[in-house]
Amino acid sequence: MDRQKDFVLRTIEDRDVRFVRLWFTDVIGTLKSVALAPAEVEAAFSEGLGFDGSSIDGYTRISESDMLLQPDPSTFQILPWRDEAGNSSRMYCDVLTPDRRPAPADPRNVLRRVLDRASGMGFSCYTHPEIEFYLLASDTPGPDGEPVPVDRAGYFDHVPGGAAQDFRRDAVMMLEDMGISVEFSHHETGPGQNEIDLRAADALTTADNVQTFRTIMKEVAAHQGIYATFMPKPFGRHPGSGMHTHFSLFEGDANAFYDPADEFRLSVTGRRFIAGLLRHSVEMSLVTHQFVNSYKRLWGADEAPSYVSWGHNNRSALVRVPLYKPDKAGSARIEYRGLDASANPYLAYALLIAAGLRGIEEGYDLPEPASEDVGALSAQERRVLGHDSLPGTLHDAVRAAEESEFMAEVLGEHVYEALLRNKRQEWDDYRVEITPYELRRYLTGL
Ligand code: GLU
Ligand code: MG
Ligand code: MG
Repeated sequence: MDRQKDFVLRTIEDRDVRFVRLWFTDVIGTLKSVALAPAEVEAAFSEGLGFDGSSIDGYTRISESDMLLQPDPSTFQILPWRDEAGNSSRMYCDVLTPDRRPAPADPRNVLRRVLDRASGMGFSCYTHPEIEFYLLASDTPGPDGEPVPVDRAGYFDHVPGGAAQDFRRDAVMMLEDMGISVEFSHHETGPGQNEIDLRAADALTTADNVQTFRTIMKEVAAHQGIYATFMPKPFGRHPGSGMHTHFSLFEGDANAFYDPADEFRLSVTGRRFIAGLLRHSVEMSLVTHQFVNSYKRLWGADEAPSYVSWGHNNRSALVRVPLYKPDKAGSARIEYRGLDASANPYLAYALLIAAGLRGIEEGYDLPEPASEDVGALSAQERRVLGHDSLPGTLHDAVRAAEESEFMAEVLGEHVYEALLRNKRQEWDDYRVEITPYELRRYLTGL
């Protein structure tokens, strides 16, 4: 740790860094930033930097508002964008209470707690997100009220000279400049929709990387005069944006999900992990699908999973076990397709990993895999096969979370209550809105 701090202080001096941005995240996943003068960094390392937590969504009540940001030197990076190139840098922070204990409101701390539990069980946890998003001509809708995508291309299309291609090249280079390795990138199915997949890393690093990723996409887009959005479902007629995430657990060097003798090359640990994901998926939905708009993606078809099921290479399933070659034992992994692109990565990973761990600890049984398109079955068939529905709306998700002892335990009372308050308010705001749909449908007919 001290060597890392020395490295940061030396780099700031050698590279003539003028601003050190301290980054942290609120309960909804909004990235927060405060710029520190280089001369203050040493003190921030030893004492933390005080700030008013009561102004941050979901943090504290006014009466106990003092909090500290404790920079994590292992996350130091020079920011490569715009005019800031070279003279700005950032570090992620852990949030502490004035007596220097981890702040219960800090999503990064919620994830750390779950990863500590995993490590107590002998596991290290790796994640690998596939992040989808739309590139738009601007942040305002066109004359027909719909957003305007930058192109009309589709899945894996190569668009010569297209905006998306330039965008992906610059974005991937910038990610690599910030130490984030990209596995691949391509045009997705929707017009203007793109996907970038990050290489697997430990879950805390990946969650930090997702936050950095969103910032970089917005920066690169702004630089090119376009706009990047992680809204889960910006177009009714086109696919939503998911953040499918692959999970793997390692015990030392051994992939704990791998068993060559099994039909799916899946170990008992892997099966129980999936069973945990499935069993807790409905109550976790308030985090994995946290906005009113998230449910438009879930129920708007186009390969977003609406039912609780798992399958081998089945893209209609909520949990998919991708095909991997027998000689690639290390790459055994489990993909959760529910997450959308707007989720708070810290809270989402904390819950998903905790659900899997609970499946392992309590020896949950894994139901039969779905081998057909679950969405194409009748409601009766799904009932017989035991495929529950994910919540239909944010309101249903709030109801499921309110009843969940699992959510309260993993998130901790503070984050759990703050989240419920925030989401009840969002639903109350939404349910009195008069939408374009209602005007179209009712205004002249009634
Ligand atoms: N866009 C789809 C979703 O909302 C996923 C498409 C894919 O399989 O990559 O999850
Ligand atoms: Mg995709
Ligand atoms: Mg996928």
